[in-house]
Amino acid sequence: MPIRVRFAPSPTGPFSFGNARTALFNWLFARHEGGKFLIRIEDTDKERSEKTHEANLLMTLEWLGITPDETIVRQSERGAVYESYLKKLLEEKKAYYCFCTPEELEAERQAQLSQGLPPRYRGTCRALSDEAIAERLKKGSGVIRFKMPESTVSFQDIVHGKASFDGSLFGDFIIAKGCREPLYNFAVVVDDYEMKITHVIRGDDHFSNTPKQIAIQDALGFPHVHYAHLPLILGSDHKKLSKRYLETSIYEYKEKGYLASAVVNFLALLGWHPEEDREVLTIEDLVREFDLRRVQKSGGVFNPEKLEWLNAQHIKRMPTPALAELVAPFISESWRANGEMLLRVVNVEKERLKHLSDLPMLAGFFFELPEYDAKLLIWNSTPPAAILDNLHFTLDVMQEIPPSEFEKGTIEQYVMTVAEKRGRGEVLWPLRVALSGKESSPGPFEIMEVLGKEESLRRIERAIQKMEA
Ligand code: GLU
Repeated sequence: MPIRVRFAPSPTGPFSFGNARTALFNWLFARHEGGKFLIRIEDTDKERSEKTHEANLLMTLEWLGITPDETIVRQSERGAVYESYLKKLLEEKKAYYCFCTPEELEAERQAQLSQGLPPRYRGTCRALSDEAIAERLKKGSGVIRFKMPESTVSFQDIVHGKASFDGSLFGDFIIAKGCREPLYNFAVVVDDYEMKITHVIRGDDHFSNTPKQIAIQDALGFPHVHYAHLPLILGSDHKKLSKRYLETSIYEYKEKGYLASAVVNFLALLGWHPEEDREVLTIEDLVREFDLRRVQKSGGVFNPEKLEWLNAQHIKRMPTPALAELVAPFISESWRANGEMLLRVVNVEKERLKHLSDLPMLAGFFFELPEYDAKLLIWNSTPPAAILDNLHFTLDVMQEIPPSEFEKGTIEQYVMTVAEKRGRGEVLWPLRVALSGKESSPGPFEIMEVLGKEESLRRIERAIQKMEA
């Protein structure tokens, strides 16, 4: 049977790491197995579902490259489908209307608790006659409960192994608030069947829903599916992940200058790792190596420093032209207009970038020499006169380099003849400051290669004027 999986988010909050990890594992599994990946928006909860959350989640998935192979399904558009299956269960007496009031249910619960019994619905409305039901429905609405079998429900989970639940502990749970208002456990079963889903991959928080869903599948005569429940995501202290991360929309990371490939790499390692413990993995690596059987049972640890580190690794490994395109939203119009220069800057700075957004701060001096204090040109306690002299000598030597040979290696050879005679720090420090106007920057030869001969000489002349003033 062809493999088909689905990611089924409820658009009731920001699209966070937990959701995205579930989406990614489904997508990777489908890609690895040559199957299909589908998206189903579970928006039956009208009060809590919001279109803005849905839009944010689809935009984020698009950014991460986790895109569906078929049209997106929305539960809010499928009322008639649920109705027909609910009616079937009602007709076959596998489900029934319940009119118990919240007060009655609460009293029942308290009575059970006081007897030391696990609370569950006693089945008061199970025995109502069709006439009594019709009568009650005329006066008002009732909920629909599923007749949960008392037998054991077992399934084989790909991550956790065999699981067994005592069906008698669940009681007859509510599957719909009316024929057109199905609740989660029922809608999921109907949709998974209609969408021909073969594997349900989702968070551990749904583990205890699985026996209920299997019982509904049996009642409707649907085949079972395979399950894989993914471990919780824990904070770096191995405790519950803090709200800050649970509720941050991942799209904000795009805006902070993270690469999609780094975020995907990070998500993949939340509860899974490849055979050898490699950490930096491309999307192609992940698709090739992803295996649900290697998903761990215990919580995946969320370490924000690791995300930052992975981002730097992905930036470093990215071809310069592609990286120059990705930094475009973070830089000014004038930088973007100077494409040649931008490529050279990105090439030099990509070793130091942790986020795409760091570029303006790190590399602004290439485009415009910042104001700096002449004192910055002085290396340790070198007398200012010697610094000035060294700048003059360096300038003279550099004049000799033919513009066509103005590249790092050649510049270095020329300048080092001065530096060897007059001291490395004494020559190279003022030179680097003259070129960058900054206390820290890439080395002077790299900067000059980016700036070109004319601009480099101009900046050294500027430093000489500063020293003379
Ligand atoms: N809509 C559910 C959620 O967002 C997921 C349901 C499922 O995967 O079965 O938690």
